[in-house]
Amino acid sequence: MSQEHFGMKIAVYPGSFDPVTNGHLDIIRRSAKVFDKLIVAVLNNTSKNPLFTVEERTELLQKVTSDLPNVEIDSFRDLLINYMKDKNAHLIVRGLRAVSDFEYELQMASTNQKLDENIETFFMTSTPMYSYLSSSIVKEVARFHGPVGDLVPVEVEKALHGKYARS
Ligand code: ADP
Repeated sequence: MSQEHFGMKIAVYPGSFDPVTNGHLDIIRRSAKVFDKLIVAVLNNTSKNPLFTVEERTELLQKVTSDLPNVEIDSFRDLLINYMKDKNAHLIVRGLRAVSDFEYELQMASTNQKLDENIETFFMTSTPMYSYLSSSIVKEVARFHGPVGDLVPVEVEKALHGKYARS
């Protein structure tokens, strides 16, 4: 019998995580307290031209969540709802920063619900100090060797230094 039949609330937090930031980590920590199990699922999206490979993104997430026993890191390339069926999960977690996130998130949540009526999306608002933080901004700062220590965990800072090492 599946875990969910025993009343376990399994949620999936999908995203690119290229790389994971303190904003993502804040959502992970807070939602891990709400759900019994949280699967952070790295999207293997070939159209986005990522800086870090899926393996690197997954490994960084594993390192920065190693103290959270009910958080599991995985990756997927399929449609999210198909992946969720495999995992027997019906709950999606997404973070909301500013109003600018809203329209896209609403579109995705309603599409996923249309594709599978049992899917529910939960939005967690960002802690104000992280509302303007994104993986793209972090990469932009790191590319020009600016300080990213307040924006990402130290493991990610090191990995960024590796990618943008001065030649
Ligand atoms: P995607 O490409 O799916 O948007 P991201 O890795 O950029 O993937 O984001 C994954 C999720 O994390 C999204 O729900 C996004 O809104 C949320 N998120 C990203 N940055 C932050 C932040 N600073 N605070 C809260 N939520 C965030």
